[in-house]
Amino acid sequence: MTTLSRRDFLKLGAFSLLGASFARFAPPASAPREQPVLYQGSLRYARVALTYDDCNLVTQLQKLEKIYDQYPDMRITFFPVGEALLNNEQKDPGIWRRFYQRGYEFGYHTFPFEHINPQVLPAAKVIEDYDLWLDALREVLKTEPVIRFARPPFGNASPSFLAMCAVYGLTPTLWSTGWGGPVKDVVQYTVPKLRNGDIVLMHIRIEDVETTALALPQVQARGIEPVTMSRLYLDLLKEQNQSPGCNPPAAIESKTTCIE
Ligand SMILES: [Zn+2]
Repeated sequence: MTTLSRRDFLKLGAFSLLGASFARFAPPASAPREQPVLYQGSLRYARVALTYDDCNLVTQLQKLEKIYDQYPDMRITFFPVGEALLNNEQKDPGIWRRFYQRGYEFGYHTFPFEHINPQVLPAAKVIEDYDLWLDALREVLKTEPVIRFARPPFGNASPSFLAMCAVYGLTPTLWSTGWGGPVKDVVQYTVPKLRNGDIVLMHIRIEDVETTALALPQVQARGIEPVTMSRLYLDLLKEQNQSPGCNPPAAIESKTTCIE
């Protein structure tokens, strides 16, 4: 399992469009640059990001925890709403910290239980909502998490949502495939089409958790590694910034810069 250090991101930051969202920071005085929307990672590396939105049902989260107990090397990313963070912490204290300690990642998905549709809000309101959401996450994790990704409800990457992402240096994130819907069909037809670099959209609901249990053996058998969004994005940045055929040992000789 490859671990991803903050240093790796700092190294890549010089080459990339990745925003520095290591902590909450004040909006810059000049107009921030909009982040590109991320749909998919690199086709070159056998890694995917399995992502779970909303996260309202604590019983299904607990089932998911048991499923991933059997795959200790896999990593996933949650895009929970803030109220689900707080509600589920009350029902099962420590549940989010347990996930965090496994190296799972968290991304923004708005605070209220019913979502915010960013389309109908000005950027200032989305920024306020992000602060509320981050406070909820800090409260349940009891630490200062690193947040790099934000997924707009309904996939609606509105100008206000993108402006909020630019202010906080977050990467707006959608998906390249979804594993929602009837379990049998998804497992039979959609899961086998999984490609390197896919960002898989799921929700914490009964069907998607069942699908997860049936899909993971397939994913493992194909040698595809489920990783966090950060890990997947690092692959994409490498692909975008690496010279073709770059070979780190040879690069030392030729004084070419390779990204390792
Ligand atoms: Zn959602």
